[in-house]
Amino acid sequence: MNKKINLTCPGCKKIVEIDSKFKPFCSKACKSIDFLRWANEEVAIETVENQDDD
Ligand SMILES: [Zn+2]
Repeated sequence: MNKKINLTCPGCKKIVEIDSKFKPFCSKACKSIDFLRWANEEVAIETVENQDDD
């Protein structure tokens, strides 16, 4: 069963019919983009903490 629902994609901020495969994103591309942005923020926070500790 492949149920589809309308949600706001966190990647592109559009209301889209979400495929459960990529939930809560509209596509594989948006899923990748959001993950990369989150990963970059993690790196940035770590850098700031290291500088503060020095
Ligand atoms: Zn999207």
